[in-house]
Amino acid sequence: MTAYVSAFDLFSLGLGPSSSHTVGPMRAAADFAARLQRSGRLADDDPVARVHCVLFGSLGSTGIGHGTPSAIVAGLTGFSPETADPHDVRGAWERLDEDPTLNLAGEHSITFERDDIEFQPRTRLPGHANALTLTATDAHGKTIAEETYFSIGGGFIRRDGDSHSEAGGIGWPMPFTNSEAMIALCDQHGISIAEVALANELAQHSLDDLNERLDLIWSTMHDCVTAGLAGHGELPGGLHVQRRAAQLRANLEAVTSPDHDTTTEWLHAFALAVNEENAAGGRVVTAPTNGAAGIVPAVAMYALRFVPGVTATHLRTYLLTATAIGSLFKANASISGAEAGCQGEVGPACAMAAAGLCALLGGTPRQIENAAEIAMEHHLGLTCDPIGGLVQVPCIERNAIASTTAVSAARLALHGDGTHLVSLDAVIETMRQTGLDMNTKYKETSEGGLAVNVIEC
Ligand code: SF4
Repeated sequence: MTAYVSAFDLFSLGLGPSSSHTVGPMRAAADFAARLQRSGRLADDDPVARVHCVLFGSLGSTGIGHGTPSAIVAGLTGFSPETADPHDVRGAWERLDEDPTLNLAGEHSITFERDDIEFQPRTRLPGHANALTLTATDAHGKTIAEETYFSIGGGFIRRDGDSHSEAGGIGWPMPFTNSEAMIALCDQHGISIAEVALANELAQHSLDDLNERLDLIWSTMHDCVTAGLAGHGELPGGLHVQRRAAQLRANLEAVTSPDHDTTTEWLHAFALAVNEENAAGGRVVTAPTNGAAGIVPAVAMYALRFVPGVTATHLRTYLLTATAIGSLFKANASISGAEAGCQGEVGPACAMAAAGLCALLGGTPRQIENAAEIAMEHHLGLTCDPIGGLVQVPCIERNAIASTTAVSAARLALHGDGTHLVSLDAVIETMRQTGLDMNTKYKETSEGGLAVNVIEC
């Protein structure tokens, strides 16, 4: 098995507010609908009459706040997170009260009511904390098909019974299982971490295609920052959280004093912008998740604006470096808040951004590894406790603060020669173990931490 995950899987175009609770469930529901379509049971004499969905564990606890039921409805209808209009997805479950029908796979209309999505937060399936089961029945109530899916973080899904290793079947020319092996490849071939990732990507894409797709990832991130910096008003969900990025941008544009260094505040504004767009259900790139989607774009914007000589073309190196680092977390620990707490979402995102920036600033592979390690080390133990089950508090601000940590980690690493005591592999393994030890209430259930100590108004 190799750790590498393609940039186009790690940075997937999706919808807010959550990769594991919105994007993953939508993909699972779309896969289920497509299977029914392929089986011919949408068009035969005794077609599917009803579909029932059960959301288990974390999907059951915080699914409503994360838009999971609407994502299920959209997925069953045949929408994909990459192309769906956010307006069509948002509120799709609530709209069933007025019109309890669903066009399965866009082909076959069935009755579908809000209660056809059932919440079982107390039941955690052994495969993963984020699980859902979809059942299709005929007009006599007889089961036609049933599938269980796990939403394993970052929008990735696994169907129960499928292999755990999605990457294992791909013959990457530069395989590595951990950071040490990745650095050894750099040493052996005299190349950078980004070039290791590049060699792997070129096994699947031509260089032109690869660059075009990397540029699309960046332009989507950039569009998200731009939209967020212009967004005003209250975020949905009932917490009455006000968007702040646009006001912060206006404040910073009004600064005239040369003594006021606004660099860090701009970094905050970029991250707030993305995470506010995410909380509003807008178009977002998982990086590597939606909840932590602000850090990689914010640090890229920082590099573009404040690091001399950096252009959008250089961001290909940034994204490829971040991909290699993010792959290590996905393979050897987790990128799921429901599995490892927030250390498993914001921690990897911060490490990816720190590594990418360190590469842009001329860091060696060992300095880049050190930057990623520093960034992750100081997120160890971070719990996931979103108030009201919404990806707003503490998530939005947490991305802003982690963006500054990423820049600090990159710059700190550049002052050394890459030699350091705690390896990236050790800190990833520590995150994995800490996630296993962490009480379930701190893993995206909204049953602990801030979620129970702050009164919702
Ligand atoms: S607290 Fe962290 S892991 Fe939990 S939803 Fe927010 S960003 Fe995601």
